[in-house]
Amino acid sequence: MEDCIFCKIAAKEIPSRPVYEDELVYAFYDLDPQAPTHFLVISKQHIASALDLTDEHAALVGHIYAVIAQIARQLGFDSYRVVTNCGESAGQSVFHLHFHVLAGRDMAWPPG
Ligand code: AMP
Repeated sequence: MEDCIFCKIAAKEIPSRPVYEDELVYAFYDLDPQAPTHFLVISKQHIASALDLTDEHAALVGHIYAVIAQIARQLGFDSYRVVTNCGESAGQSVFHLHFHVLAGRDMAWPPG
């Protein structure tokens, strides 16, 4: 989608530090890390937010969680947090579906 920063990152029009890529998803390190390890997993398909997900996306979302587990194993993490901010009030600033993966420190609950 034109003017979507994450579409441009997935298309390599904007540089990023890659973690993983396949035909459905791209994972790259967050520019403003909130944990010692903080990367984002995005769908290559432009989906504005989790609010737009339907049953048609079930395989995609399942694949994203499988990819996250695979990356975590490769990086040596058995403890990590996955966050999807959905909507401005929840902290979403980029309106392209993405999953934050945070690891390498103890996490507080509830999140702020
Ligand atoms: P959210 O605020 O939940 O929508 O998450 C968007 C995330 O994208 C934030 O954690 C930003 O630090 C991150 N971000 C924005 N632009 C870039 C970029 N060019 N490369 C890597 N991460 C980015």
